Amino acid sequence: MLLKMNDLEKYRKIINTIDDKLISLISDRINAARMTMSYKLSEKIDLFDYEREQEVINRIASESNLDKSFVSKIYNEIIKEGKSQFQSELSEKMIIAGPCSIESEEQITRLAKEISLLGIKYLRGGAFKPRTNPKSFQGLGQEGLRMMRIAADEHQMKTVSELVSCSQIDEFYDLIDIIQVGSRNMSNYELLKYLGSVTAEDQKPILLKRGFCSTLKEYLYAAEYILERGNPNVILCLRGIRTFEQKESEMRFTPDLSSILELKELSKLKVLFDPSHSSGASKYVVDLSKAALTLGADGLIIETHYDPSKALTDGPQAILPQQLNEILRYL
Ligand code: PEP
Ligand code: MN
Repeated sequence: MLLKMNDLEKYRKIINTIDDKLISLISDRINAARMTMSYKLSEKIDLFDYEREQEVINRIASESNLDKSFVSKIYNEIIKEGKSQFQSELSEKMIIAGPCSIESEEQITRLAKEISLLGIKYLRGGAFKPRTNPKSFQGLGQEGLRMMRIAADEHQMKTVSELVSCSQIDEFYDLIDIIQVGSRNMSNYELLKYLGSVTAEDQKPILLKRGFCSTLKEYLYAAEYILERGNPNVILCLRGIRTFEQKESEMRFTPDLSSILELKELSKLKVLFDPSHSSGASKYVVDLSKAALTLGADGLIIETHYDPSKALTDGPQAILPQQLNEILRYL
């Protein structure tokens, strides 16, 4: 019996030694994958490559005589861990990208894929568009939100979309991970109160955009309406204000970049910047994004489309998914 126990100890020692090596090799492999992703980012190459992942798994399975489904299970987990570690490094800043409006299943599916390949985890898309002109495209509504939910889930992304009424909040709650309150609704206090109460339990994040004619004090009071009802997860978002510049300027609004500095002093809430609505012109979006990050913005929300000229809303301010790369590299 004593001899048997000693043998058991011996075998366990061997196993422990193998485990130590195994874990250290897995961690080396994850680090190598992270280095590869950094390189890809700097060279503007898509971060993820599903074909290459399959190639890796197939090669090991065939060379090791292990069952493919077993190899596949282990490697999928290791690969997933590498990606998620890399993404959390990136996601110290919250980068949200996607079209102004969800236009079709094909459009949102393609954009979700292209944007997620860059390592971006938040997909935006409007379904209820608060349009100045009632004849303009108003958004696909519920159908659009469904399309975006499916597209986002496929790439493990979170959805960001605007709701404009209390009944929509009830109806579409589960389709949206971060509920946006648009600039035109920042002073809709009933909506803010309702949203605050409904989200108090699960504390779903609310992206509250600054009213384009509101002062920072008015803006922070609006945030307070949500906060005081028990949801601390309010994310502020500067999106340009209307000033005398608009009498002549080509910019749709005046980018309120300096407000990043003040808001960061006045509040503990996350402050995002929207370079797309701020300027209304795609040629300024990358530089404004860099400026916002330099001034300490906690993230960006950027309108992105693979064919801006065909976008149903806000095409002139949309950038291409590849252009997001330049902003990510700047990070
Ligand atoms: C939007 O994000 O699509 C939008 C309408 O923004 P804002 O409310 O800032 O105009
Ligand atoms: Mn828009």
